Amino acid sequence: MALVSMRQLLDEAAKGGYGIGAFNVNNMEQIQSIMEAARETKSPVIVQASRGARAYSQDRFLYHLMMAATELYPEIPTVLHLDHGNSPETCKSAIEMGFTSVMMDGSLMPDGKTPSSFEYNVQVTKEVVEMAHAKGVTVEAEIGCLGGIEDGHGMGGDGLDHLTDPDQAEEFVKLTGCDALAIAIGTSHGAYKFSRKPDGDVLKMDVLLEIHRRLPETHLVMHGSSSVPKELQDIINKYGGSLKPTFGVPVEEIQLGIRNGVRKVNVDTDNRLAITGAIRKVFMESPEKFDPRDYLKPAREAMKKVVAERMVQFGQAGHAGDYKPIPLEKMAERYRSIAVA
Ligand SMILES: [Zn+2]
Repeated sequence: MALVSMRQLLDEAAKGGYGIGAFNVNNMEQIQSIMEAARETKSPVIVQASRGARAYSQDRFLYHLMMAATELYPEIPTVLHLDHGNSPETCKSAIEMGFTSVMMDGSLMPDGKTPSSFEYNVQVTKEVVEMAHAKGVTVEAEIGCLGGIEDGHGMGGDGLDHLTDPDQAEEFVKLTGCDALAIAIGTSHGAYKFSRKPDGDVLKMDVLLEIHRRLPETHLVMHGSSSVPKELQDIINKYGGSLKPTFGVPVEEIQLGIRNGVRKVNVDTDNRLAITGAIRKVFMESPEKFDPRDYLKPAREAMKKVVAERMVQFGQAGHAGDYKPIPLEKMAERYRSIAVA
């Protein structure tokens, strides 16, 4: 089975009233963890790679691993998405390689850290929408800036400096025709999101509700949405790590988002924590071991467990067989007919 357009998965999720986890990958084990979790829970899935991941894996390794995933898990509708494309050129190279969805993050300049102007964001996003839709590829855009830094991308800070303005969001979607919109509601990338369990002062769910009220048809995306569970932090610290106490986005808040237009939920940190905890445990408990499989297998299993749990919590579990994938050429035709109409 071929990779599927993200637009189709998000449209189906909107119909079914559920969200879909988008999990970041850099290597084979992470892809295997996600695909196994998808099979176990019968979930459609979004696998995403950042620019950093593409550089780490030399791109083509990642692409062919994803091809293997579609061969080995033909029953799972699978999207390959570019996370935080920093320029139209980056998006173009992903589309040429076979990504079925791209994020053009024009909320920041191409350096990936300087907040941009609204006009710049509209311009680069429109350019990518035209290029991607011609090939049936989905486009996620971002308005407002998240806090923290992810693979060298991000403006840092606590995520409250550049919250998404609902007026601008409405205008932005009208001007660009993007398929999905990432919004800034106080979340940050990385493990250190909040210094206490987040309340309405730091996690602005009211902004999300207002954006959804104005853009009921737009698929919203929550970035920086790892929950950073204490159990996973504890495993790392128990086996020689030293993470400072930290709080992520509670799953209940994500579920509230999903009831209000959120269709894509980005999760990376939780999986990183699970992998590192599992590896540290083997190193501490069995220092005589040196076969990488001895620690990569438990690492893979630990990540699979987290991903499967999120798939159930986000509601995508059980929906893998609901629909037949629409080929990208058909999606391209559909975009053309909307553009004409
Ligand atoms: Zn992000």
